[in-house]
Amino acid sequence: MKKLPRAGNYGKLFFARNPRSETQSCGIINVMANAHPFQTDDPRLAPIHAKVMAGERLDAADAVALYRTGDILAVGWMANHVRERMHGDKTYFNVNRHINPTNVCVAACRLCAFGRKKDTPGAYTMALEEAFETAASGYSEAVTEFHIVGGLHPDLPFQYFLDLCSGLKQRFPQVHLKAFTMVEVAYLSKRAKLSIRETLEQLKASGVDSLPGGGAEIFADRVRHIICDHKIDGSQWLETAKIAHQIGLKSNATMLYGHVENDEDRVDHLLKLRALQDETGGFQTFIPLAFHPDNTPLQHLPKTTGMLDMKQIAVGRLVLDNFPHIKSYWQMVTSKMAQISLRFGADDMDGTVIEEKIYHDAGATTPQGMRREELERLIRAAGREPIERDTLYRPVTRTETSVTVAV
Ligand code: SF4
Repeated sequence: MKKLPRAGNYGKLFFARNPRSETQSCGIINVMANAHPFQTDDPRLAPIHAKVMAGERLDAADAVALYRTGDILAVGWMANHVRERMHGDKTYFNVNRHINPTNVCVAACRLCAFGRKKDTPGAYTMALEEAFETAASGYSEAVTEFHIVGGLHPDLPFQYFLDLCSGLKQRFPQVHLKAFTMVEVAYLSKRAKLSIRETLEQLKASGVDSLPGGGAEIFADRVRHIICDHKIDGSQWLETAKIAHQIGLKSNATMLYGHVENDEDRVDHLLKLRALQDETGGFQTFIPLAFHPDNTPLQHLPKTTGMLDMKQIAVGRLVLDNFPHIKSYWQMVTSKMAQISLRFGADDMDGTVIEEKIYHDAGATTPQGMRREELERLIRAAGREPIERDTLYRPVTRTETSVTVAV
């Protein structure tokens, strides 16, 4: 492969052609002055680098080229540049608790090790009081968010979920409820014989503050038929997210990678998310999720590699130019990889979690929770500044006696 001139050189050329980049804020000039010069031996990356430096949107061909290149450091350099342009050294985390009210699920997705058929070994459903006790048991660190997701239970009435949310709000009024994936919302609407909008409005009235990003997987039908045939399709996921955003509920968006999808499928997924974000502005964070095959019907597939994990973070940052945040979910890629990803485009390391079940059923070997001090230590060791946030990315200030959210 032909060697390109060292990036320091065409970096200078670029600045001559693009004065806008020289006149960015003083933080950015620092970043530019301190950054290693960009260099690559892959000629496909030079025009992408020029676009990134000019703040131009990348297209599908650019995104495929980013996935195809072996030059992970060049891709990381560009993603890190964008990350620092948007957030400097700030790295967000929150103190949250996961609550999975039931693992009973009618869907039987082949990607999943969490869902169980009713009345089979390991199937569980929390009584409401049990869910409230679970919420209280992780409360010692002044949790600011409950992340609530579960299976598609064939018998639980919609009222159970409304009572769950209103009961949690009553007991923990200051805790943000980030609850129910688009897949769960669509299923609840079917069970309750309500429209998606009505379902979301009732959930919101019962206390739901925002939605997580799960269930998106990969939008392409070909892939969805293999990994999650019984779930809503990609367009229904996007439509549900759109309605949530329209009624004032922010959400996240995920992409499950490392199974049977190809580069084009990933690019298609990212571009569909970006198009919806142009329309609604309702997504907060993109979270690439590494597929864990253990204990799933797809357990013959290999686990993701470090290269692939870093690539998803970096390509996500570069393509999703309208997403404020890119999260590296330490539970799935390990805290060590998540820490490195803070130099590959990620500006969020998720939270303390407390009792993660879904990926541990699929063989994740990470701890089921992490203390706030440990998250902060990892972020500082990456040369970044830890910022505790609430779910809406407002800074949280703590003293020995109080927790304050900046509004
Ligand atoms: S991924 Fe979700 S919808 Fe699919 S089987 Fe598992 S719990 Fe059910």
